Amino acid sequence: MDRVSELKNKLSRVLPAFEIAEKELLAKHTSFRIGGPAELMVFPRTREELAAVLRAAAELEVKPRILGAGTNVLAPDEGVRGLVIVTRETFMGLELVTPTRVAAMAGMTLAQTANFAARNRLSGLEFAHGIPGTVGGGVYMNAGAYGGELRDVAVRTEFMHLDGTTEIFEGERQGFAYRTSAFQTQKGVIVRTEFELRPGDEAAIRARMKELAEKRRASQPLELPSAGSTFKRPQQGYAAALIEQTGLKGLSVGGAAVSEKHAGFIVNKGCASAADVLALVKLVQERVFDATGIRLEPEVRLWGAEE
Ligand SMILES: Cc1cc2nc3c(=O)[nH]c(=O)nc-3n(C[C@H](O)[C@H](O)[C@H](O)COP(=O)(O)OP(=O)(O)OC[C@H]3O[C@@H](n4cnc5c(N)ncnc54)[C@H](O)[C@@H]3O)c2cc1C
Repeated sequence: MDRVSELKNKLSRVLPAFEIAEKELLAKHTSFRIGGPAELMVFPRTREELAAVLRAAAELEVKPRILGAGTNVLAPDEGVRGLVIVTRETFMGLELVTPTRVAAMAGMTLAQTANFAARNRLSGLEFAHGIPGTVGGGVYMNAGAYGGELRDVAVRTEFMHLDGTTEIFEGERQGFAYRTSAFQTQKGVIVRTEFELRPGDEAAIRARMKELAEKRRASQPLELPSAGSTFKRPQQGYAAALIEQTGLKGLSVGGAAVSEKHAGFIVNKGCASAADVLALVKLVQERVFDATGIRLEPEVRLWGAEE
């Protein structure tokens, strides 16, 4: 029996009521709507379930991949071997731990978390309301928008290692920098993050969220599947501006195209494969480099097929 089948049997024994999907299409779990089957996919609801899954995978030497809302991942057409742990919609919970501190489990969306903060008249997460990912994915990426980043408010993160033990990362130890965090160099799962916020006026908080949502709708191709900004902001200038100046708006490979509305986005026109997107990423990098001497680096996480 191969290791993945052994893992499935083991999980069915250890967690009898646990949902395990086999050959689930990653396209159903990514905002690009791209990606072949994951050999095994699981949806833990609690720390205990997550720890049991991680321990079983470690014993059988199956590498787990973590997926939040899949809004920053390009999954391969051939799918992925091994285990994918999905947090969105199952690994849930929000709590007011002090009058100004909100704690969110990793599977909560940033929108749910920002709304909870607003209901509790707490300001500081308005910028994150329109970022379409989970708290875990957001902390992993240090997601940011409109002058805010999660590093401004994330003060304490609980992280689970592959052996099921947890560790607290506080303040600077979370290692935030532009679109990265200490968790990108760790193997394991972000479990929960606490956000330190400021007392505010609920109407003003909601008005700011609405204003930012309108800005987003006006400038981003939200009607088409994508993973947001494809490239990181280079030191010199903005990726979208460089791509537009190079005349690449509308450039396409197969079903993937540089958005006409926002040159920083590669969109799926309906039938794009991961191979199309990867070829377009490469083409944009080459053309921008030839025109400007600047090398664009992908912000989107490019998953490979192998363990
Ligand atoms: C329309 C659109 C607009 C966007 N706008 C913005 C924006 O304004 N600003 C911005 O920063 N981003 C933006 N993004 C990108 C994306 O929403 C963010 O990067 C978001 O934080 C990703 O969260 P996620 O839950 O979808 O993560 P996923 O895409 O599921 O995962 C991203 C990475 O995080 C890892 N990961 C996820 N959860 C965990 C966890 N619990 N523990 C450990 N690792 C984990 C994954 O393995 C993967 O490597 C946009 C995307 C779209 C589609």
